[in-house]
Parts: sequence; C-alpha cells; structure tokens
Amino acid sequence: MFTIRQLYTVIAVIYTLLLLVGIITMRVLWFFPAEYDDALAVQQSEVNGLISALALKRNQLEAVTQDYAAWDDTFEYAAGDNPEYTDENFITDTFDAQSLNAVVIVNPDSDILYGGFYAGEDIHALPDELAEWTRLASNEFFSNQVTSGFQTINERIYLIASSPITPTGESNPIGGWLLFMQAIDNNYLTVLAEVARLNMTLKIPPYSVDSVNLKMPINEVMAIRQGCLFDDMKHPSLCVNLRHSNGSGPQMFSSRLLLTLLIFSLIPAALFLTLLNLLIDPISKATKLLERSNSDHTLHPILYTTPVRILELRQLRNAYNELVHTIRQQQARLEQLSNTDRLTNIPNRRAFDEALETSWRRMLRHSHSVALVLVDIDYFKRFNDHYGHQTGDMALHQVAQALHACARRADEMASRFGGEEFALILLADDARSLDAIRTRLHTAISNLHIPHGYSAAGKELTVSIGIAWVKDSGQWLESIGKEEWLRAADTALYEAKAAGRNTSMLQVLSEEIPLTESPVLSRLPDSL
Ligand code: GH3
Ligand code: MG
Ligand code: MG
Repeated sequence: MFTIRQLYTVIAVIYTLLLLVGIITMRVLWFFPAEYDDALAVQQSEVNGLISALALKRNQLEAVTQDYAAWDDTFEYAAGDNPEYTDENFITDTFDAQSLNAVVIVNPDSDILYGGFYAGEDIHALPDELAEWTRLASNEFFSNQVTSGFQTINERIYLIASSPITPTGESNPIGGWLLFMQAIDNNYLTVLAEVARLNMTLKIPPYSVDSVNLKMPINEVMAIRQGCLFDDMKHPSLCVNLRHSNGSGPQMFSSRLLLTLLIFSLIPAALFLTLLNLLIDPISKATKLLERSNSDHTLHPILYTTPVRILELRQLRNAYNELVHTIRQQQARLEQLSNTDRLTNIPNRRAFDEALETSWRRMLRHSHSVALVLVDIDYFKRFNDHYGHQTGDMALHQVAQALHACARRADEMASRFGGEEFALILLADDARSLDAIRTRLHTAISNLHIPHGYSAAGKELTVSIGIAWVKDSGQWLESIGKEEWLRAADTALYEAKAAGRNTSMLQVLSEEIPLTESPVLSRLPDSL
C-alpha cells in the first residue's frame, strides 16, 4: 500500500530521471556534435584566415621586391653604373613605407653589393648574421624568378623576398638579386592580427620538426592552437600561438545546462507538491473526521475549507454533509419512533424509563418536588369485552391524549406505561398543586365522556390514580432509588383500586418520614 505522497515521489523521481536521460541523450547525440562542428568550423576559418593573411603579406613583399628589381636603375646599380642609387632610393621613408628591415643587393656571383639595415631610426650596415645568411642562402633565393620565405636567422624570423634584377620588361640577363627582408616579431603579428581579426603571438624558434602544420585541416577544438607554416624542405618556418575567438569550444555539460535541468525538474516538482498538499490535506482531515465519527458513533459534518477553492473537493464535502444531514434526520425520526407508542402516539415505556432516570438524577442534585403518577383505566377488560377491542383502542387513544395534555411544562411528561396504564411525571410544589393535578387528571378523563355501561365505578369511563410525591428532593434520595418511587406510586394505585376506583391515592416520600412509615393517603394534609 502506498500513500499518495510516496506515489508522487516515485513519479517525480522517474520523471527527473527520464528528463535527465532525455536531455543528456539529446545533448550527446544531437546538440553537442552540432555545436562542436560549428566551433571547429569557426576555428578552421580562423586558421585559414591566418594562412591567407600571411600569404598576402608574402605576396605583397614579393610584388614590391619584383617592382624594385625590375627597375632599370636597380639593374644599372648592380652593373656598377649607378652608385648613388642606393643612397637615393633606400632611405628611411622607403623602409617605413614598405615595412622593411633590411635590403640586400647581390651580384650574379652572390657577392653583397649593398646591405642596409633599418630598425626604426637610422639605416645601418647589414648585421653580420644577415650578411652571413645571404652568403649561405640556398639557390632557391637566387633563381630567375621571384621567391620568398620565412627564415630563422639567429633566433629571429624574417620574411625574405628575393627577385632577380633584370632590365625593364625583360627576364635576361640577370644582373644580380634584390632581397627585401621583414623581421617577423610580435609587433608585426599584432598589426597582422588586427587586419585579420585574429589573436596570435609568435612562437620563438627553434621549432620542433613535430610541429603541427597549419595547412592541415583541424579536427579538434582548442582555445590556443600552436601551428606552423612549413617550407619546401618540410621544416617549420614560422610558428604561432593562435588564440581562437570561441575559446575551447562548447562544453558537453555547462552550468547553464545543469541550471536548465534543475529548473525543469525542480519547478514541476515544487508545483506538483503544492498541488498535492492542497488535495491531500483536506482528504486526510476528512479521513480523520470519519475515523472519529466511527469511534464515537456520531456523525460529524466536514467543516474544512481549502485555501484554493477546488470544485471536486467542495462537491465531495457538500455531498457528504448532505448525507450526514439526511442520516441525522433519519436517526432523529427513528429515535422518535422508538420512543413513541404507536397506538396512542404519546411517549412509550422506553421514553418513560429514560425520563424517569433523567428526572431522578436531577432530583438528586437539586431540590424539587415531583409527583410520579400512575393512571389505570377502571374495568377496561369489561369495556373491551363489550364494546370490542377496536373501540377499546380508540378509548385508549383518547385517554392518552387527554393525559398528555395535562403534562404541560418542559420537565413534565405523560407516557403509556403498558396496557391500559399510563405514567406521568409532574411538578407539584405543595398540597394545593397536588390537588390541582388530581382534579385536572380526573376532569380530563371525565370530559371525554366515554360511555362505559359495564363499570361498577360509574356510567362513563373512569381512571384510578396512584401518586408518589417526592417532597424536596436531594441527596437523601440516594438511599431510596427510583424503583422505590415507582413502587410507592403502584401501591397508591392499588389502594385507589381497593377504595372503589375512580379515585386517587397518594404516598409521600420525604427526608423526614421513611418510606416504610409513609401512609397511603387519599388526600395530602394541608400542613404538608
Ligand atoms: P381494573 O379496574 O382492576 O384495572 O380492571 P381492568 O379490567 O381494567 O384490569 P385488567 O388488568 O383485568 O384488564 C386490563 C385490560 O386492558 C385487559 C386488556 O384487554 C386491556 N388492554 C390492555 N392493552 C390493550 C390494548 O392495547 N388495546 C385494547 N383494546 N385493550 C387493551
Ligand atoms: Mg391494569
Ligand atoms: Mg384497569
């Protein structure tokens, strides 16, 4: 057996697990690969952008070098005819304009004719390491066409372009070679990075032969990529650290995803729990009430209210309360029926016993003067025998109603004691009121004028009355008991019959006179 809360917990756990599995599956199989591919594409385009930017720089330098080399003045200088050429043309402005750091002119025997070095202030003689490199440079730089490449010279990297010096418009004869050199440093890269919108730094040589070739397609997303451009000899010639704009790419389980997951599982859980409490609380209150009703055998209406008006709960409550109302009405009706005599329609013996018990208890607590009156129809057997049982029944009904009308006050009652006998509990304070009761009762019967031709007590139906009067009740009654009270009334009735019927006799129960010594009187002396 489960409680609703337990069932809900199980469902909530299953829901959360399914949600978790669902989201993780979607993330792993669908969203993450797509995001990863996008990030990879972005990084690939950044790498491509870097390669293009460097290629562009190379092409630009090659073009400028070719321009100068194809100039007649340059050719003449290489041939020894124009010694002012270098001083006139390779001035600081030229270096600045073309971002050059060194210009070298060699003759066809690879002897250096001119070497100028510029680092931002004046033009100096070519440093030894550059002169040395020029002398040892591979044939590739001294061919019949323009070439360029990144070269590491004394732990510094230079982009060097070389072009054969030829007369304008011709490719022969080669009068030597013009070399333009650009030092590649972080400043150079910063400018390049701004143009290409990349974030990169130079890697200081020497470079490992195992370096990653930037021209190879990338297959991994990484925040910082180390990569190199390789020369024709398959050696790394320029290596950079490229910081990608999208960082290390998408995360499989980001805090945002976890937060989403939390929200998706907690919010429904909290909402449903609130709803559940709204539903369960009234149910458990109602259940407790029903259990209480069961244990004390009474029906209580459900009086709870819910903070939110829930139609079904209200309907259930109202239906139940209507049922309680109906049952209570039926109970009252049954109670009444079980306490009412069917023939005479006045309280029956059962009701009398209860009333006697209640009166007796009240008399023990308080000081009252109460009369227990037994009324018996005279010669009723004869009445029945001669007028028939049905007429007898009608007479019984009339007598009962007449007596019932005599018990007027709230604490008074008249009942059918059994057969043709009636018992009344009436309040009587003194001798006068007792007299009044006797008169009232006899008059009530004689007023019915029911003919009885077979009675020895008169021509009409009469009754004999026995009264047991308790004077000033109180705790002293505990030594007597209500049965004695009834017996005293019965004795008085017996005496009334013996005295010829159609009369009343009386016995007094008081604290002063013991019951055994109390005489049966036809009338109470006024002294009492
Ligand atoms: P007494 O004056 O001594 O009381 O004589 P009685 O004939 O009234 O007394 P008895 O006890 O001999 O007879 C009582 C009769 O009451 C007997 C019975 O037929 C009649 N009786 C009792 N209950 C009913 C009833 O419900 N209906 C009718 N019709 N008669 C009843
Ligand atoms: Mg009788
Ligand atoms: Mg009788």
